[in-house]
Amino acid sequence: MALFVPRSAWGARPARNRPTDITPGKGGVTIHHVGASPVACSEHRDCARQVRGIQDHHMNTNGWGDIAYTHLVCVHGHVFEGRGPGVRTAANGSASGNQNWYAVCSLTGGTSSHYDPVTDPLLDALRWSIAHLRDVGGAGDAINRHADHTATSCPGRLSSHVRDGSLEPRSRP
Ligand SMILES: [Zn+2]
Ligand SMILES: [Zn+2]
Repeated sequence: MALFVPRSAWGARPARNRPTDITPGKGGVTIHHVGASPVACSEHRDCARQVRGIQDHHMNTNGWGDIAYTHLVCVHGHVFEGRGPGVRTAANGSASGNQNWYAVCSLTGGTSSHYDPVTDPLLDALRWSIAHLRDVGGAGDAINRHADHTATSCPGRLSSHVRDGSLEPRSRP
């Protein structure tokens, strides 16, 4: 069971807008990671600061209305509330991607030879997030990768977990 961290608990800034014109039942959930360098915090107490930094980057540098992701999950098994269910994401790289798919970002990164540990709590948190977005956000059953929407290496090592079905919530009791 993942531990949910609402916006108030990680110190989120208010969103500038919350666009809700989406049809996630046509798609599902798209998996992301942070980037091509290892980023996972060794101590969970540092994860909220990391999420605030991502939100600041998306709002200040990219000029977006909020953190781009629906949820963010950490290697310690926590699920941080991003835009949340029912709100259009800005992360998936295409209009149809943002229209039909939620965006869940793993707070991991790296390259194939040097990647953050993909922990069991991280995989549990991803499955919990996907199940939650189906239950309360109307997400369709599909799970795919950022790279399925646009040319990117995202989500790195997690691509294999998308492909082999191990992120499917129904694959675990
Ligand atoms: Zn991505
Ligand atoms: Zn953490």
